[in-house]
Amino acid sequence: MATSTHAVLITGAASGIGAGVATELARVGHHVIVSDLDREASGKVAARIRADGGSAEAVALDVTSDASVATALRALSRPCDVLVNNAGLQHVAPLEEFPMGKWDFLVQVMLTGVARLTRAVLPGMRSRGFGRIVNIGSIHSLVASPFKSAYVAAKHGLVGFSKALALETAAVDITVNTICPSYVKTPLVEQQISDQARIRHMPESDVMTKVMLEPMPKGVFIGFDELAGITAFLMSPAARNITGQMIVVDGGWTAR
Ligand code: NAD
Repeated sequence: MATSTHAVLITGAASGIGAGVATELARVGHHVIVSDLDREASGKVAARIRADGGSAEAVALDVTSDASVATALRALSRPCDVLVNNAGLQHVAPLEEFPMGKWDFLVQVMLTGVARLTRAVLPGMRSRGFGRIVNIGSIHSLVASPFKSAYVAAKHGLVGFSKALALETAAVDITVNTICPSYVKTPLVEQQISDQARIRHMPESDVMTKVMLEPMPKGVFIGFDELAGITAFLMSPAARNITGQMIVVDGGWTAR
């Protein structure tokens, strides 16, 4: 069991990193609030966690909607001490072919949505005198890849947002940090393989080795356990003065 357990609200937690982090944090004793667009999909993840002996509840939450955020927060069994802003999506296309509606939507989910939900939970965190905001950024918060202009812009913006908010919350025991992983094998990444193969005119088999793993000297995908472990550390008293930072988990990508 964790020495101090918290209620952790995770967005986009019906799949991939969100589901993985929720599962790991529940395993070490935290109460996890599994939120995603779809209540049914969130419910399945929460039920699996409870079946394994963890504490979890599920809620439908669309980070692009004020009404959805308000309804979801009202429905919680307890207020959240920790918010993990994880919901995200990708679209790969050269800028000239990138539908502007899609471009704007990526920013809505991964940047404006983060601000929307964070501002909704902050008053409660301030009044209780404790809070941890953990944003799931990306290696694309630091460096770019072609054909990902909306994603790269949103993830770079997320770091600026986190720094500004770290200053705004400095007087309270609230921290705001951004975890920046390189590739993690999730549905989001698997779906990119065919898109990348088409745009780059290369076989799908080469996308994984030459595009995704090649920039990472360690040559392996990042694991959910690593991201959950870093989140748990950021939640701990040992990290109370770490704020406005990027925690880069890139297998050595940016050391080159
Ligand atoms: P995923 O596609 O497996 O899961 C993303 C989840 O976000 C889905 O369940 C989806 O329903 C949810 N979501 C999308 N729009 C939403 C909205 N408006 N409101 C609420 N939920 C919404 O993807 P993943 O790979 O697990 O990605 C999770 C996060 O990690 C994203 O922010 C992504 O940018 C980031 N990330 C992923 C990788 C990677 O290699 N997979 C690397 C770095 C960062």
